Amino acid sequence: MLYSINMEKIYLDNAATTKVDKKVLEGMKPYLEAEYGNASSIHFFGQDGRTAIDKAREIVAGFLNCQPKEVIFTGSATEADNMVILGSQAKHIITSQIEHPAILESCKHLESRGAEVTYLPVNSDGLVEVSSVEQAIKPETGLVSIMYANNEVGTIQPIKEIGEMLKYINQERENKIYFHTDAVQAVNYLDCDVGELGVDLLTLSAHKVYGPKGIGTLYVKHGTEIEPIIFGGHQEKGLRPGTESVANIMGLGKAIELVKEHKQDNDQILKLRDKLINNILEKIPESKLNGSLENRLPNNVNFSFKGAEGEAIVIALDQEGIATSTGSACSSGSLSPSHVLLALGLSQNEAHGSLRLTLGKDTTEKEIDKVIEVLPEIIGRLREISGYRFK
Ligand code: PLP
Repeated sequence: MLYSINMEKIYLDNAATTKVDKKVLEGMKPYLEAEYGNASSIHFFGQDGRTAIDKAREIVAGFLNCQPKEVIFTGSATEADNMVILGSQAKHIITSQIEHPAILESCKHLESRGAEVTYLPVNSDGLVEVSSVEQAIKPETGLVSIMYANNEVGTIQPIKEIGEMLKYINQERENKIYFHTDAVQAVNYLDCDVGELGVDLLTLSAHKVYGPKGIGTLYVKHGTEIEPIIFGGHQEKGLRPGTESVANIMGLGKAIELVKEHKQDNDQILKLRDKLINNILEKIPESKLNGSLENRLPNNVNFSFKGAEGEAIVIALDQEGIATSTGSACSSGSLSPSHVLLALGLSQNEAHGSLRLTLGKDTTEKEIDKVIEVLPEIIGRLREISGYRFK
């Protein structure tokens, strides 16, 4: 069936972005309307903005269990990740092969300037082994950056265990190894107490947690030395200069405040995720779940279907009113398979046939049933076109 205007739209791309919660929007509105002052201004317009920023900072600090002064608002999580990698001044960085491009591309940039980077492999579930981090440490290592949960396959990394190992190792070292985690995909679902995790730096983004786009946070533990990467003002302790977007910061604060409320939806999300996984694996021959089943975000599903192209599946689902995504990115006319799926050991063909469905707090059972109904037929049709033969 081709997509028609009256067709019910189903959104299963919550890892890409989420719908702004109404309460978040309400919290932002005053700062886009009457209270539009520059938070650095002395007059009351400005001071209203300053008070709002302070409030949001306290909410985020409460969520991370840190001090408000350790919370730096940034223009995005990409920016926060860049600030860590480029600002750390580390001669040697340890990261993983499955990080977000915000980490990988900034590491590559640093390499071009003479720094050394170790990109740790992952096992077939997508897990970084704590022992592999330990073995990669050198005298000149200054930073370890491992994501909390992967955006493509939802694998949850052993951050607390890596933090404990580094704490132990740091006791013996003169130059401390800082520990950063990109927690963007984890915030809705996992405990983000920075003390418990043992991290010095943590990145989060508002638009993955029902907040606005274009606003993120970098937690910087007191005493952690990172250099600014942009210059031009005193805002955010000079680490992220530029006039603050009060509305976005308020939106982020409200979204983080609501995370606790949304946690109640997580059991339902997990139930629907498992229904989707079990039914698809049963109904579609030669289908495969990518990533770990146990150490997986409750909202992430990632399949590979032999003989069916990821883009073609996404387009066919889109025509049914279902929004999903694929690991392969179409760049400059050439299809490059996902670096994450390749690191998990998938072949180029398997990686090309991947489909990611990410659930959210508004996902219903009826929507999941619709996917279970239409996907087997779509895969069958695409396999027929590609001339795929079962083994
Ligand atoms: N890190 C991870 C793990 C992500 O999933 C994303 C977004 O896709 C980002 C960083 C970048 O976030 P932002 O869109 O706020 O720059």
